[in-house]
Amino acid sequence: MTMENMKKGLLLVISGPSGSGKGTLIKRLLELDDSFIYSVSATTRAPRIGERNGVNYYFIDREDFEARIADDMMLEHAEYCGNYYGTPKKEVNENLAAGHNVILEIEVAGSMQIKQKCPEAVLIMITPPDFKTLEARLRGRGDNVTEDVIRRRLETAKVELSKLGEYDYIVINGENMIDDAVHRIMDIVIAEKSRVSRANEFTKKFFAE
Ligand code: 5GP
Repeated sequence: MTMENMKKGLLLVISGPSGSGKGTLIKRLLELDDSFIYSVSATTRAPRIGERNGVNYYFIDREDFEARIADDMMLEHAEYCGNYYGTPKKEVNENLAAGHNVILEIEVAGSMQIKQKCPEAVLIMITPPDFKTLEARLRGRGDNVTEDVIRRRLETAKVELSKLGEYDYIVINGENMIDDAVHRIMDIVIAEKSRVSRANEFTKKFFAE
């Protein structure tokens, strides 16, 4: 590990099924502490109302996405509900080198790729307290989706949560417990930053003349 590596920020992978509240949680983290940086992903899905290119996602077409994969510009990528999603490698590396804690809000297949490629990454799964709450949240969103879409989201949630054992931490996002969930993530970051394995140069530096 070089001195540069010691200054490196944490690579935080945050996953959670639709309805886990991970988006709100991440927004709070970003507001609370400016050491966090959100990694803006690329996707081939169409922007939703209110989403902005370069802020929520880089909205690109399939041809462009496949060219970026071929050029090894993606740290990870996956297909989800018929669209590509991927993490731009260069931005993540630059932000980590600058000492930022970089948040990847990605689904489980991409997280497993990060786990392989970047073993120092910290994987956190956000979940609702139980399946009933998840279902109630998905039905109560009022985003006018069909029963079929809700069923599919619930099925996807089951698949995603079946990968929980591959993650390092679980954070349960209970009803009206968002502050608790945010603080748990902050605590995880503090503990991970204090790992001896991230401070290999410490002793050398400590005894340096
Ligand atoms: P949405 O279309 O609702 O914004 O996102 C759908 C799913 O794709 C979410 O689970 C989200 O976390 C995931 N996702 C967003 N960006 C990326 C990415 O860069 N890579 C991967 N693997 N998943 C992503």
